[in-house]
Amino acid sequence: MLQRGKQLYEGKAKKVFEVLGDPSKVIQSYKDDATAFNAQKRGTIVGKGIVNAKMSAMLFQLLTQKGVQNHFIELLNDTDLLTYRVEIVPLEVVIRNTMAGSLAKRLGIAEGTPLKTPIYDLHYKVDALEDPLVTEYQAEALGWATRPELDRIRSMALKVNQILLGFFDSIGIKLVDFKLEFGRMPNGEIILADEISPDTCRFWDKKTNEKLDKDRFRRDLGNVEGAYQEMLSRVSGVLSSAKI
Ligand code: UDP
Repeated sequence: MLQRGKQLYEGKAKKVFEVLGDPSKVIQSYKDDATAFNAQKRGTIVGKGIVNAKMSAMLFQLLTQKGVQNHFIELLNDTDLLTYRVEIVPLEVVIRNTMAGSLAKRLGIAEGTPLKTPIYDLHYKVDALEDPLVTEYQAEALGWATRPELDRIRSMALKVNQILLGFFDSIGIKLVDFKLEFGRMPNGEIILADEISPDTCRFWDKKTNEKLDKDRFRRDLGNVEGAYQEMLSRVSGVLSSAKI
């Protein structure tokens, strides 16, 4: 029986625990706590931990089947994932298919404007600096990742986008944009890590354009819990397996 060891870390949306007797794995426990605007806005989204854990588990399984190596091993219960322990690369990798959020604001282009090709952006993962946009050259020069690692991260992220675009389209969802994080295994290999959930993606209903993601919390749009449940139910409808 797998036993949870001491807490290694508490982030804004999850806690990470060691696995007793197995330093190669960790347990990620998803919380209902919600933050936005660099933790200036705080709240609780009831049921979010369950939605994000289950949705991440199902999407990581889908990505494994499609050949995208990632940290997911097993869903242990409603809110806890068993994952490989990795050293997180300090970059937030953002892929955009439709203009929205901070980029729409910065460039003065209307949200919802389609993009001719996906945009691939890197942000340096430091809350105190509000995750500034950085270039691959900056990431390489400052030693956050090597050139071969950056090449792998970019090609994996674009592949994840192709897989997820098709999957979400099949459940009536426009995948507007999303954020990924990558980690290094002890052998140096780069794999996909973190989570894939309504906290880290923008999901719009294809027919109505209704927002079904964390923007409902960020922008006080109401029915935040309902939107998270709706996303879990649509994803589960296609991907739920015996384990989930
Ligand atoms: N995102 C995230 N964590 C962050 C910043 C952004 O998961 O710290 C996600 C966000 O949910 C969206 C995408 O990355 O799906 C692009 O976000 P953007 O850069 O537009 O920033 P935002 O408007 O969310 O501040």
